[in-house]
Amino acid sequence: MEARADRPLPRTPRGDVVSGETSQPRRWRVRVTEKCGGCGMCVMTAPLYFQLVDGYSQARHSEVEPDDAVLAAAELCPMSAIEVVDADTGAEVTPTP
Ligand code: SF4
Repeated sequence: MEARADRPLPRTPRGDVVSGETSQPRRWRVRVTEKCGGCGMCVMTAPLYFQLVDGYSQARHSEVEPDDAVLAAAELCPMSAIEVVDADTGAEVTPTP
């Protein structure tokens, strides 16, 4: 996120500029919904985060640190079956189809 020229940068009480990185969620909650068709695209895209079990995808971990590979898998999923939300706020991280 870029600071706008007409607004001062956010600062700590000591006066240090607050990095935009601090606003990033620390954990994502990942879930594969019942819409999964078992094509395996997510497993090929992000094998550290997804696996096929009985022909359908499952998230290997229910919570993960933010990683673009998870978003890539969610975006490539032809069934929009992968949900990614901020674990702290529940805000959706994946783009809506
Ligand atoms: S890409 Fe989507 S439909 Fe394909 S296995 Fe993964 S979750 Fe299921």
